[in-house]
Amino acid sequence: MLRTIIRLAGRRIAPGGSDARLSVLMYHRVLSRPDPLLPGQMHAALFDTHMRALRTHFNCLPLGEAVARLREGTLPPRAACVTFDDGYRDNVEVALPILHRHGVPAIFFIATGFLDGGRMFNDTVIEAIRGATVPRLDLSDLDVGSLPLSSLEQRRAAISACLKAAKYRRFDVRHSFVAELARRSSAQLPNDLMMDSSQVNILAAAGMEIGAHTVHHPILLNIDEDNARHEIVDSKRQLEILTGRPVTLFAYPNGIPGIDYGATHVAMVREAGFRAAVSTAVGVSRPGTDLHQLPRFTPWDRTAARFVLRLLRNCAISQPKFV
Ligand SMILES: [Zn+2]
Repeated sequence: MLRTIIRLAGRRIAPGGSDARLSVLMYHRVLSRPDPLLPGQMHAALFDTHMRALRTHFNCLPLGEAVARLREGTLPPRAACVTFDDGYRDNVEVALPILHRHGVPAIFFIATGFLDGGRMFNDTVIEAIRGATVPRLDLSDLDVGSLPLSSLEQRRAAISACLKAAKYRRFDVRHSFVAELARRSSAQLPNDLMMDSSQVNILAAAGMEIGAHTVHHPILLNIDEDNARHEIVDSKRQLEILTGRPVTLFAYPNGIPGIDYGATHVAMVREAGFRAAVSTAVGVSRPGTDLHQLPRFTPWDRTAARFVLRLLRNCAISQPKFV
């Protein structure tokens, strides 16, 4: 029943060929089991539901092939790609077997500076608060206030307040803010959240695509142009050396057009030799979409039917604004 509805609706909303729609799904972590501290985080059982539904109702393609076919006007109807950002270890250990089980290809955008024991600032915040041995984290002098940590709800609220406070601070200021937060929490922080270099090659050998995502994951609009160019070009080169393959696809860190990156960065990405790049503007690609600013979409639905209907609805929304 659902299959018939989706085929009929999809024919009109997500046709193929010269009027095609390309859905590009965005994931980050895939935990092995739900985390009470991070209730919105993707986990294995839900990811399995998503991939089974995607494989059943959509035509899944590697992003590189989808971009070429979008340009040529030869995409199949209900075309979809799966992408992962940042380079989390659980992508290899948890997501890869699920992708294999359902025969879904994916691309992994790696921030190279965090490979082999690095930790992103957001994870330092989360893990510092998770492992805090103090009942209250006083960050009044850092403009965040004094945060109680006695209950799960208080820890969730503290994480949210600290991430909000840290995200758009200048790169070096953010670094010292997060380091100070970690010091005051007295938590033991994990060093195994991100992939090892060898795991990037496991993904590549498994037939998955590898894309670049800068070295240190800065908000490109918050750093100067020389630095931004280095971040873009160096991540490409490092991944090409590591995998021995050309890296031709890029994901902007954070990815909101006009807030996280600008037109200068789009030009830099094109000049660096990337064939296409993905943003986090919500929407779907159509013939004529800027290939260096492809929109993406984060599905969060808990049932297969809702997940598929949301994907179809996403195909029908109007184009987002780009830089
Ligand atoms: Zn990212």
